[in-house]
Amino acid sequence: MSESNTEIKNFIQKIIDDDNDSGKWDGRVHTRFPPEPNGYLHIGHAKSICLNFGIAERNNGECNLRFDDTNPLKEEDEYVRSIIEDVKWLGFDWEDRLYFASDYFDQMYEHAVTLINEGRAFVCDQTSEEIKNCRGTLTEAGKESPFRSRSSEESLDLFERMKSGEFEDGSKTLRAKIDMSHPNLNMRDPVIYRILHSDHHRTGDRWCIYPMYDWAHGLEDSIERITHSICTLEFEDHRPLYDWYLDRLDAYHPQQIEFARLNLNFTVMSKRKLKQLVDEGVVDGWDDPRMPTISGLRRRGYTPSSIRNFAEQVGVTKRDSVIDVVRLENSLREELNKNAHRVMGVLDPLKVVITNYPDGKKESLDAVNNPEDPGAGTRDVPFSKEIYIERNDFMEDPPRKFFRLGPGREVRLRYAYFITCTDVIKDGDGNVTEIRCTYDPETRGGNAPDGRKVRGTIHWVSVSDAVDAEVRIYDRLFNKADPEEGGDFLSALNPDSCMVKAAKLEPCLSEPGGETYQFERLGYFKKDEKLSKNGDVFIRVVSLRDSWARFIKQNRT
Ligand code: ATP
Ligand code: MG
Repeated sequence: MSESNTEIKNFIQKIIDDDNDSGKWDGRVHTRFPPEPNGYLHIGHAKSICLNFGIAERNNGECNLRFDDTNPLKEEDEYVRSIIEDVKWLGFDWEDRLYFASDYFDQMYEHAVTLINEGRAFVCDQTSEEIKNCRGTLTEAGKESPFRSRSSEESLDLFERMKSGEFEDGSKTLRAKIDMSHPNLNMRDPVIYRILHSDHHRTGDRWCIYPMYDWAHGLEDSIERITHSICTLEFEDHRPLYDWYLDRLDAYHPQQIEFARLNLNFTVMSKRKLKQLVDEGVVDGWDDPRMPTISGLRRRGYTPSSIRNFAEQVGVTKRDSVIDVVRLENSLREELNKNAHRVMGVLDPLKVVITNYPDGKKESLDAVNNPEDPGAGTRDVPFSKEIYIERNDFMEDPPRKFFRLGPGREVRLRYAYFITCTDVIKDGDGNVTEIRCTYDPETRGGNAPDGRKVRGTIHWVSVSDAVDAEVRIYDRLFNKADPEEGGDFLSALNPDSCMVKAAKLEPCLSEPGGETYQFERLGYFKKDEKLSKNGDVFIRVVSLRDSWARFIKQNRT
């Protein structure tokens, strides 16, 4: 492994180094990312993808993409396709190692038969309710099922008949015979198979019994000869059960390593909750740009590298914590600040007429594309007698510290001239509809030869050259740092998470190539293909700065 001085090894890498030193896996490193195809992937999954594929990459190992598709009730092909697309987009390659747990159903069944034959599993007629009630508690032992003493022959016969469809859903289960007074509740005769007369997205109606997660998951890792089975902390208590299964079956035994899942503030992350947002129409699909899904982030304008860098920066720990979503946003900002071309767009236009500018005259002004990157060059921006400025860059009665435009005040138009406001035009209701200014022809390019200074520089767009576009200002979907505090995350929705503006943009944006621009002073924006059916729609990728910093501070006390 090549290592820079700044790289701090995470504890998983240390385990791998130790294993390589001791020759435990003959130098092999084989990980996997094992999503259940019951929804679209989110940023938490991205963390796991980066970790698993990253570890394989760094150690000359391999990483499988494996669908853990053992629950036909919730799984769909659409989810499989979206997951494949997302992992690819993040830039990882599973080569020819795309696997499905459902491909192992026969082997899993055979293993179950082995356990029955050895007297380590039995068919139980208790209902799920009864099983739950007999389970006991952390302080109290559970009660053994009356069917626990069934002979292996009888259990085997019943299990085969379960498989052939003779029994109704829920009427029987196959259970491991472990220990009903085991201190770990997962070890109290857990269910291995349940009856479910339901079609599976890949195996169709071939099966009407399906393996439980805990039974299936360890076997999948074993079948694929995974070396380091990396999972989140909640599976720590399940590890003894996986161990028990694999040891009893005398099967290949990967090493499970748990790490703390990624949590972000202002976000919900479980697929179940994200699905609820989609199903209830709170958002416009799984890839709504406000969603923490990988497809939502992609559409929003996140790049694979910004997500991978974020995942790397938050690191891997053993302790649960909540990461500030600003760190994700900053990872993107940092990249866009380096790469994005600057342009001008006016989101809330107010017309300005420059009274001493010649009628019909047009000039091309030179504008820098990216001050961070001289190689990005310059472009021509048209200037004329009538321009739009941002409505909130003008105040009729401004306080002293307002350095933008007001009656009698002078500002700099970015890349253009100094202008001074001379008149304010209003409609019958007293709303400002237009302002009149004069310009100083000596200040072309933004500097006065007499050395006079102005405090404010504002952006603008020439009226006759402007392109019309809808702009959507997306903001956080939730306005509570912990949307689940109090139980109902839907009540924490931010009512202003999408604000629509009729904007005027610089003409170079009439045909953008899908890249993200910095609209000067406003943030980063990109055209959204999906929304741009009847005219261009730009969405805000991320603001220039973290405008929520103060909000979070106030709410932290
Ligand atoms: P969710 O609870 O959000 O629906 P899940 O754990 O049920 O997620 P799976 O499809 O089972 O989703 O997860 C696939 C892999 O992604 C697992 O290895 C899981 O541990 C990992 N994973 C899921 N959520 C996170 C997270 N927030 N942070 C890190 N890893 C995660
Ligand atoms: Mg899951």
